Amino acid sequence: MDNRVFVSPCGDYVMPDMERALREVLAGVGIEDIIKPGMRVGVKVNLVSAMKPARAATTHPLLAAQLCRILARLGAQVVVGDSPGGLYNQAYVGGVYSLCGMHEVEKAGARLNHNFDTAQADYPQAAYAKTFMYTSWLDECDCIINFCKLKTHGMMGMSAAVKNMFGAVPGTFKPEYHYVYPDAYEFAGMLVDLNEYFKPVISIADAVVGMEGNGPTAGSPRRIGALLASRSPYALDAVCAELIGLHVSDVPTLSYAADKGLGPADISQVQLEGSLDKFIVADFKKIDRQDGLGFLRGTGFAGKVVSKALSSRPVLQASKCIGCRKCEQICPAKAISMRRSRPSIDRGACIRCFCCQEFCPKGAMVVRRPLVARVLNRK
Ligand code: SF4
Ligand code: SF4
Repeated sequence: MDNRVFVSPCGDYVMPDMERALREVLAGVGIEDIIKPGMRVGVKVNLVSAMKPARAATTHPLLAAQLCRILARLGAQVVVGDSPGGLYNQAYVGGVYSLCGMHEVEKAGARLNHNFDTAQADYPQAAYAKTFMYTSWLDECDCIINFCKLKTHGMMGMSAAVKNMFGAVPGTFKPEYHYVYPDAYEFAGMLVDLNEYFKPVISIADAVVGMEGNGPTAGSPRRIGALLASRSPYALDAVCAELIGLHVSDVPTLSYAADKGLGPADISQVQLEGSLDKFIVADFKKIDRQDGLGFLRGTGFAGKVVSKALSSRPVLQASKCIGCRKCEQICPAKAISMRRSRPSIDRGACIRCFCCQEFCPKGAMVVRRPLVARVLNRK
């Protein structure tokens, strides 16, 4: 397990800062040993939704373009893509590319993916994702570079490299996977399966400006000023977690990877190349998950009742809601119905996947922890 993580300062999305920071972290991971002339390299960015770069929800296009320039100089043929939530076709994803500023990568000699075919993977050695649908463009690549954005996330607490590989699943199938894996730990296991299947050769985190608060789409941009890279998405995410005041045990993807012996059990097991101190954002606004209450959970009926009572849930901030029905349409459990033009959640049916929170265009759905869980967590 190569647990080295390279960190470099990058104050903003400007040159020469981006160029220097990228060169430093990529030299650290040994990019020249990985990328050979003629290789077809897929850069899997985070394009969660059609949002401008300033919203800090997506991988910044200027950083992605700079990576493409470096890869082109190494002789690689580069294609950049992702499957956002929603339809997976030219019209929808093309609009996402435009609003996210991703045409910048074309100026850097790369091309954007326009192959919207899907395929089924059989992966019997997986713990959860034994068969799954994925985006076929990844088959055209000799290797994948995972270029994520550091953000808060309703279900996983944090979105960085491991969560970013969920973009390999076509947007139209994502709600189904939430429904099949409603438990956060199982969902995390499925994400780890995807990472093990696609095995990105390098994972890079855009933590120049991350997203805090109601992430991964409706939070606030927060400057962190760091660019990170690693050969291990788990080691990279363990360091990302530290930057925003979380630990391996707070993030289901990291806990699961550690339990399986794939990732570090603690930050002390990461070989950190570069100092982290100046990048840690002590007052980073985290999302309202039930972190640290796992000890109260059990199995069986009683365990499920306790778990449900303590679980965070989506709550509507009615003053922000415009009644667009997007949450109703995306809810995989069909737990949302509209009443007087506002969404009403059937708490018994809700599986706490937070798709409604993730894709509300107005940030009107927020993650809230029940009072009892907040009190217990404080203790
Ligand atoms: S997606 Fe957001 S704005 Fe639209 S109806 Fe649901 S809560 Fe309201
Ligand atoms: S109401 Fe929201 S959190 Fe609950 S199942 Fe539907 S989309 Fe998921």
